[in-house]
Amino acid sequence: MAFDIDMIKGVYANIADRVDKARSIVGKPLTLSEKILYAHLWDGVADKAFVRGKDYVDFAPDRIACQDATAQMALLQFMQAGKSNVAVPTTVHCDHLIQAKEGASTDLKHANDVSSEVFKFLESVSNKYGIGFWKPGAGIIHQVVLENYAFPGGMMIGTDSHTVNAGGLGMVAIGVGGADAVDVMAGMAWELKFPKLIGVKLTGKLSGWTAPKDVILKVAEILTVKGGTGAIVEYFGEGATSMSCTGKGTICNMGAEIGATTSTFGYDESMERYLRATERADVADAANEVKSYLTADPEVYADPKSYFDEVIEINLSELSPLLNGPFTPDLSTPVGSEMTEKATANEWPLKVEWGLIGSCTNSSYEDLSRASSIAQQALDKNLKTKAEFGINPGSEKVRYTTERDGILDIFEKLNAKIFTNACGPCIGQWARYSDPKNAPKNSIIHSFNRNFAKRADGNPNTHAFVASPEMVAAIAIAGRLDFNPMTDKLINEEGEEVMFDEPTGWELPPKGFEVKDNGYLAPDEDGSDVVVSVDPDSERLQLLEPFTPIGDSITGAKLLIKAFGKCTTDHISMAGPWLRFRGHLDNISNNCLIGAVNAYNKKTNFVKNQLTGDYGGVPDTAREYKAAGIKSIVVGDHNYGEGSSREHAAMEPRHLGVAAVIVKSFARIHETNLKKQGLLGLTFANEADYDLIQEDDTINFLDLDEFAPDKTLSIEFVHADGTKDVVVTNHTYNAAQIAWYKEGSALNLIKKENAS
Ligand code: SF4
Repeated sequence: MAFDIDMIKGVYANIADRVDKARSIVGKPLTLSEKILYAHLWDGVADKAFVRGKDYVDFAPDRIACQDATAQMALLQFMQAGKSNVAVPTTVHCDHLIQAKEGASTDLKHANDVSSEVFKFLESVSNKYGIGFWKPGAGIIHQVVLENYAFPGGMMIGTDSHTVNAGGLGMVAIGVGGADAVDVMAGMAWELKFPKLIGVKLTGKLSGWTAPKDVILKVAEILTVKGGTGAIVEYFGEGATSMSCTGKGTICNMGAEIGATTSTFGYDESMERYLRATERADVADAANEVKSYLTADPEVYADPKSYFDEVIEINLSELSPLLNGPFTPDLSTPVGSEMTEKATANEWPLKVEWGLIGSCTNSSYEDLSRASSIAQQALDKNLKTKAEFGINPGSEKVRYTTERDGILDIFEKLNAKIFTNACGPCIGQWARYSDPKNAPKNSIIHSFNRNFAKRADGNPNTHAFVASPEMVAAIAIAGRLDFNPMTDKLINEEGEEVMFDEPTGWELPPKGFEVKDNGYLAPDEDGSDVVVSVDPDSERLQLLEPFTPIGDSITGAKLLIKAFGKCTTDHISMAGPWLRFRGHLDNISNNCLIGAVNAYNKKTNFVKNQLTGDYGGVPDTAREYKAAGIKSIVVGDHNYGEGSSREHAAMEPRHLGVAAVIVKSFARIHETNLKKQGLLGLTFANEADYDLIQEDDTINFLDLDEFAPDKTLSIEFVHADGTKDVVVTNHTYNAAQIAWYKEGSALNLIKKENAS
């Protein structure tokens, strides 16, 4: 990890200058979040104060982390950039493509069989371009990042929404789409709207049955699933410093569930302990040298309302354990009798069938040790477990150490299945049913972050409730959703009444962490000879070809679809069963816009093919236009492309020959993704012109050869009866983005500049 400490020391060497300058420009004391943001400006030292929630700012992240599902397209794109190495330290983690069924060894072997071509591809690309590779079974991306890479005051991006977990070690870590990650890997800046700031003051101290998970479940209840949108949540106060580093990670992790950009905590002794326990004393020593820059200025926490856009206060001494769910992570119910009433009123099954402990949210040594203290009591008190148990350790380091310390053995004595160190049931990779769609209504409890319908097992009738690992253990043993371990008794095998004592555990392993093979493969020093091979007949992977520039003339184009109403990235590029094609642009393009509603017949995936007059699916129709050498145009409504930042939603139309997307308004990330892929993303100057577009229109751009910043583009729509309407459109392309368009894509331009 020598490379890392050099990089970290480089960040710390600049932090004082950058933060001091920023403080004088902003003109007041700074929060931790502002310090990290201003210390990572692409242009170095700040020359202006940014307006929160308004200004778009270029940043220079320190690290990138990618998981196996999203890394495929990101790396396929990076290969297009013509670079010999990634510009920023990057890692790839194989954790999403491993199904939980029989238990770790069988399941891992099965995953290595069915996804071997994807894993081999990721391994060889990583080796070639200087990317650290974590093999299947090495662990869940965010636990591995916390153990190995996160550092106080750093900035990281990752192609997964729970990248935010690294806030537990004082980072600003943000989940992004693959296109953003590729830009940074290729040496470009990363743009983010300067976030708003929410301060959460934690007073008091956790005790008894209350865990860090309950803090974020409470915050989710207060802010709801949208309350953190566009904001960084910064935690502080005595309650924050009294918590473990991995506990802080749990809280930051589920910041994704309130829509927050990210969450973070100031550097403290718990982080120092964690760094030293995970063999990073050098990072702790370096952080200690710049400690005051790794937390907010003292004035901020003394008077938070003057510095944050919103402040919440939670007294940990008064907080009670919560169960959140079903179907949404912000629906809180205190553990106990209130659940009886709610479950009865809503017909939620009270019987609990499974207790699952794991996911990137709660799979640390501390989590497993506290949950095992409850499991041990069940053994000691001769209690029979009512629900089944499944455990996913967060990393091989955690698995090896918990096995050595007898923790996993306790669960195994309760017949728990120890699944692979991977996401498993958290991402639906759980072979619970042969026919999930027709599976019965039931309740499960887990320590994960998300509990949307079908998320864990594909069964729309599974009611999933989220709780701390120790509460999952207690409720799974009791087998009832409304069991309150603080007050309720259970009957053991001898017919005696017994109660659980409060959970206990270790923040860090008393004998230290240990691991034989952590699953990491360092890349070759010089990867230039590494050959990345992709089978041309593969269904799942396809090497990309550079997109051909659309050019400065579009005439005779056909309307592909006029989308009606909401058209999110899910409507444009659906997830679900299509996930397996994420590395194969041509195959995944068969889902292009199949969820969008055709404005003329209000049907999905049913559009008129102007060449034949027949109606058919959007991808098929687009392919016919493309085969005939005809460009096609997509028209859309408001906030087109909202939702996830997935770049497939821009790459697929581009691949199928769409030249322009003209809408009333764009979701900004999707608009940028369209620009990056060399498409035209335009908005109606007069929104009402949307109504002028007709199903049989042929489309001519009148002044595309004059494409320039701040200049409108005029487009002629020729209707079937020969009449015409000229529609004026706006765009937000700057000169650099117009250069992307002219070269065919941002990556084409990078490659060209690299070659010259
Ligand atoms: Fe995402 Fe769940 Fe994996 Fe975490 S454990 S990275 S939330 S799928």
